Amino acid sequence: MNLLWAAGGAMAGLPVGTGLRGAVFALSVPGGEPDRTTCPSCAAPVRHWLAGRCGHCGNGLGTVGALELATAAVLGLLLGRFGPQPAMVAFAFLGALGVALAAIDMAVQRLPDPLTLPAFPVLVTLLAAAAVIGHDGGELVRALLGGVALAGGYLLLALLRPGQLGGGDIKLAGLAGLTLGWLGWPTLLAGAALGFMLSAVVSLGLLAARRITLRSAICFGPFLLGGALLAVLASGW
Ligand SMILES: [Zn+2]
Repeated sequence: MNLLWAAGGAMAGLPVGTGLRGAVFALSVPGGEPDRTTCPSCAAPVRHWLAGRCGHCGNGLGTVGALELATAAVLGLLLGRFGPQPAMVAFAFLGALGVALAAIDMAVQRLPDPLTLPAFPVLVTLLAAAAVIGHDGGELVRALLGGVALAGGYLLLALLRPGQLGGGDIKLAGLAGLTLGWLGWPTLLAGAALGFMLSAVVSLGLLAARRITLRSAICFGPFLLGGALLAVLASGW
């Protein structure tokens, strides 16, 4: 862990988290409903998607500080792990996006296409740039195969157990697979397995606490992302 880079990542994560707040606010609606465009406090229209607070009454959109702290933690860990490596930008991009996606999934159990789909060309471009700078095309090929493999695995699970995993989970698995595959097949397998283990542990805990029943559907995005983050941080040790 490179502490200087970790500190820089945490500092950068605070404003990035504020930037995510508007998107999380706008997209935290049940599937099929239009994006939220008005302030919950004063009903004034929230004009800018990236605005962190209402321009009329000044109230923050969403829980002030939560996204900032989560993004600071994730970017601190990722920059501490990758430091000045060219692929760091790609990992930081998915890390910040993952914070927004996890927040929306926990709020309304959905991983919206407006965030996941445009992330594919961005992430592939960032990884391709890292491959060019690092003169290593093999990592890029493995990343692309990893994205296809993890998305395919989730598609298979969704077909086998309908209702448990949604289309958003499959797309997010593709994004996570790109970054996990870049680091190698063992990392990809570890990330996938850790996601399911985290989900099982938390589900058992919630069952024991009678917070959910056996038939409850719990959001899977945060576990998928958490497992991927743990595997990425542990890779190369
Ligand atoms: Zn307002």
